Amino acid sequence: MTKPTPRSTVLVIDAYVPGRSAAPGAARVFKLSANETPLGPSPRAVEALRGMADHIALYPEGSSRALREAIGARYALNPDRIIAGAGSDNLLELLALAYIGPGDEAVYSQHGFLEYKIVTLAAGGTPVVAPETNYTAEVDALLACVSERTKIVFLANPNNPTGTFLPANEVARLARSLPSHVLLVLDAAYAEYVLREDYEAGVALVDAHENVVMTRTFSKIYGLAGLRVGWAYGPAHVIDALNRIRSPFNVSSVGSAAAIAALSDRAHLDAAIAHNDRWLPWLSREISALGLDVLPSVANFVAIRFPDAPGLTAVDADRFLMSRGLVLRAIGAYGMGEFLRLTVGAQEANERVVEALAEFMQSAR
Ligand code: PMP
Repeated sequence: MTKPTPRSTVLVIDAYVPGRSAAPGAARVFKLSANETPLGPSPRAVEALRGMADHIALYPEGSSRALREAIGARYALNPDRIIAGAGSDNLLELLALAYIGPGDEAVYSQHGFLEYKIVTLAAGGTPVVAPETNYTAEVDALLACVSERTKIVFLANPNNPTGTFLPANEVARLARSLPSHVLLVLDAAYAEYVLREDYEAGVALVDAHENVVMTRTFSKIYGLAGLRVGWAYGPAHVIDALNRIRSPFNVSSVGSAAAIAALSDRAHLDAAIAHNDRWLPWLSREISALGLDVLPSVANFVAIRFPDAPGLTAVDADRFLMSRGLVLRAIGAYGMGEFLRLTVGAQEANERVVEALAEFMQSAR
């Protein structure tokens, strides 16, 4: 008997493997593997969720209007040029489906977020990978990969898993230099964490160009990863294309309600920013002092490089940390097998990681 067969491109995709959360045998587990916030969601979001019990049997309002209006009010954007999705992954997927087909190419940088490869292949397109220097995307390298066949350039800024970023003038140069048939997707999932004056998430570029779109998420600093809510801001014609192909109820009513409440809690957001601003540099400093390389990060995680020496590799470190209930993210799938990615956690988790790494480095000497 024959079976329905997916397109051949589907079967060559390595499915995204999320970070682990279990640490076998450990009494207490600190999950530092998925860039989630240690502060959790705003209490207002939790309250809003409780209030939604009576609405669960009903379909959500299909255009996520209330959410788009709340985002628009918060960030001074036109709600008609916003589309909401089930996480920003949903928007990346829709962008690929709308713009990429067999014979088309999508460009992203060497250690760019893995989802770009998956959505490009899933849409039937061909990924084209631009080289990086110092684990940072390079505008000229990205531009050199662009051809007539290029439909999308994906850029995560800051990038996961490296934590590195491109300053506003470089992203502006990329937007300016791209041919007008190419859509530039600026993935700003970690934008709220970036405290640098030379950073711009993408709004200014979306407003200045007809071929730039920005994606954002409630999964990271807003602490709503489990509810799957993200959004994109773009030119009207791009938002229109995405709306045509999205599923009719792609954001849940509970997700919308929690996201709207989360947006209203500036104090919680400020606390999350302040926490990261304190502990990101602390972790980078303490871990570097142990003799390990830490990539310079502007997000809520750091990539740590381990030596290529027996007993001291990232695989050894991963095993050692796991035995102490510290779950980091191995990023071999990004071609960074000598690294582990560590999410900034609560104070106790951060201190335990540094202690455990000190012990690890000592034990291997
Ligand atoms: N973009 C980047 C750069 C990310 O790191 C992530 C989360 N891993 C996402 C997008 C997707 O996040 P979500 O679908 O939860 O919004």
